[in-house]
Amino acid sequence: MPASITSTAQPLTGPQKALRKLGLNRAIDLALHLPLRYEDETRLVKLREVREGEVAQVEGRVAHAEVKLSGHRQLLVTLDDGTGTCLLRFFTFYPSMQKALAVGNQVRVRGEIRGGFAGLTMMHPVVKPAGGELATALTPVYPTVAGLPQAYLRRAVQAGLTRAELSDTVPAEYLEEIGLHRLWNMRKALSFLHHPTPDVSLAALEDHSHPAWQRLKAEELLAQQLSQLQSRRERARLRAPVLAATPLLTQRLMAALPFQLTAAQTRVVAEISQDIARPVPMHRLLQGDVGAGKTVVAALAAVACIDAGWQCALMAPTEILATQHFAKLVGWLHPLGITVAWLTGSQKAKERREMLALIASGQAQLVVGTHALIQDKVQFKNLALAVIDEQHRFGVAQRLALRSKLVDELEPHLLMMTATPIPRTLAMSYYADLDVSTIDELPPGRTPIITKVVNDARRDEVIARIRGQIEQGRQIYWVCPLIEESEALDLTNATETHAQLSAALPSVMVGLLHSRMPVPEKKAVMSLFSAGQMGVLVSTTVIEVGVDVPNASLMVIEHAERFGLSQLHQLRGRVGRGAAASACVLLYSTGDAPRLGETARERLKAMAETNDGFEIARRDLEIRGPGEFMGARQSGDAMLRFADVIEDAHLLDWARRLAPQMLDQHPALAEQHVLRWLGGKAEFLKA
Ligand code: ADP
Ligand code: MG
Repeated sequence: MPASITSTAQPLTGPQKALRKLGLNRAIDLALHLPLRYEDETRLVKLREVREGEVAQVEGRVAHAEVKLSGHRQLLVTLDDGTGTCLLRFFTFYPSMQKALAVGNQVRVRGEIRGGFAGLTMMHPVVKPAGGELATALTPVYPTVAGLPQAYLRRAVQAGLTRAELSDTVPAEYLEEIGLHRLWNMRKALSFLHHPTPDVSLAALEDHSHPAWQRLKAEELLAQQLSQLQSRRERARLRAPVLAATPLLTQRLMAALPFQLTAAQTRVVAEISQDIARPVPMHRLLQGDVGAGKTVVAALAAVACIDAGWQCALMAPTEILATQHFAKLVGWLHPLGITVAWLTGSQKAKERREMLALIASGQAQLVVGTHALIQDKVQFKNLALAVIDEQHRFGVAQRLALRSKLVDELEPHLLMMTATPIPRTLAMSYYADLDVSTIDELPPGRTPIITKVVNDARRDEVIARIRGQIEQGRQIYWVCPLIEESEALDLTNATETHAQLSAALPSVMVGLLHSRMPVPEKKAVMSLFSAGQMGVLVSTTVIEVGVDVPNASLMVIEHAERFGLSQLHQLRGRVGRGAAASACVLLYSTGDAPRLGETARERLKAMAETNDGFEIARRDLEIRGPGEFMGARQSGDAMLRFADVIEDAHLLDWARRLAPQMLDQHPALAEQHVLRWLGGKAEFLKA
């Protein structure tokens, strides 16, 4: 076990708790907690040479000191170092400080230099007596949290660094391939990054091009690749049911479909069929743009599974989506004699009991539902295929839970579907453990959606346009934003818009849908809209995924500037499902500002320029960076802390090449490496 810096026998102090919160449990975690920036206490500068904005350390004589009583009470001190003067300002001060800063005293001060009317100024500088020893290395400043003082954290990190086991886990010959000299071993690289010598170029430290940084980033990427490769190999040793379908049932389903599969659908169906016909669990991500037709692919996989005598489960993130899937799948599969069961959180106890019994007995061959599917009470008789729709909406723990519904030591095959494609660079790094199938074409006959970006000041024109659409027998979605901090505000927005539209369109049925409505009410609203009686549906983002009403041809998104790109794309995908020309209006509001911010403008522009989900994901990544992009999709997944998959692509390539060699030739080192970097998180990454 790695040494822990805190003893568990005694209650934790505040700072110890804060360390835990930062995930700094082991000595190695502390050693890997690298500075955000550095302060230079190694030298003194002359006031003549300092520049505004820099943090400077200066020694001089106190030429003047007074407590100013008018306005803000403050201590004002003039420091003179012989080359110039600087005004020191303190808004809080104690008698001891006044004594230290008495006129005539020689002092050393350190703080940020500001300009201004009074000439050079420092606010609340650190004050020490002049003449003390200078630091020999730069002083690290660590990322911290409330309740964890920098000084405490510095000592803890130093202690961690001293105690951590830091022998090299990557053989030197591999490091030479990326130009890293063996001199920069782990201990040296880390010691250096915590306490760089003053002669180093701060630029190389800041842009992370210094060999010590390169070493750290290479190590981190290697840990990530090793851990994913390990889980891939572990999975290859597991056993799963062989799901080889007789072609008969599949053919009957195909014949009953009102359309022909696209070439892309046919290709991914073949990829999936091959996978599930092997006795090793499939772990596949099916990505395809909104409307690409992923559901029918899932249905074909389900048929293969059921035909082989096993159960299949399909989990969707919302009740609305689960309902739709259920209706669609019953329509397709019931005529083939397949029993489809249904499980959600809002079900009546009696119905639920019946469903649970059907599932446990194996009579239910396909089970469609929400998160309710992964609860403990749900016992499958022989689950062999789990399909997770809109997988990015589920947490890692939920995906793990579905996988753990094992039967007789056999692991189910796992098919995850998403309409939010993962750009290639990220896929290689974060999902190296997954196989990916991509539907890269839309079914024929779709008319592209035209997207317009419109200022909210022109709302009346938009409402007039709605009227025109309704007259042509079309239906409209009007989406209001989800404000996470305040569901209440969220609702106001939607209810107000609902009232406004109801008043403006007296002859039209205008409905309202939001997440806090009771489920039966939601269902009632959805069915009125699906059946075409309701002309306009005002909703929060509950309709984001999966909702399929082909007659809806216009979507208005209010406060579009508040949405992420991928989310806008998902929402927009609710229209353009039929043959009619469809449009999406992105209403933006600038609030009190004269115009939209740069990023928001760029985002909305991207939406108007392309309908291609892959292109949108790429731009989203570009605008937001991998941290946020991934953060939004997979809360809980361990992120890369130091490396950047785009900037450090050459290191990622190296890590990908090296990982299998390491596992084969140096398994013990590989193990040690993963443990060092990922500790307890490795399990989580495998989900
Ligand atoms: P998504 O990939 O977004 O989940 P769906 O599976 O909901 O897309 O499919 C969108 C619509 O396209 C559905 O109405 C579906 O029945 C229809 N569809 C699927 N495949 C085809 C096809 N090959 N040709 C025509 N329509 C199709
Ligand atoms: Mg779908």
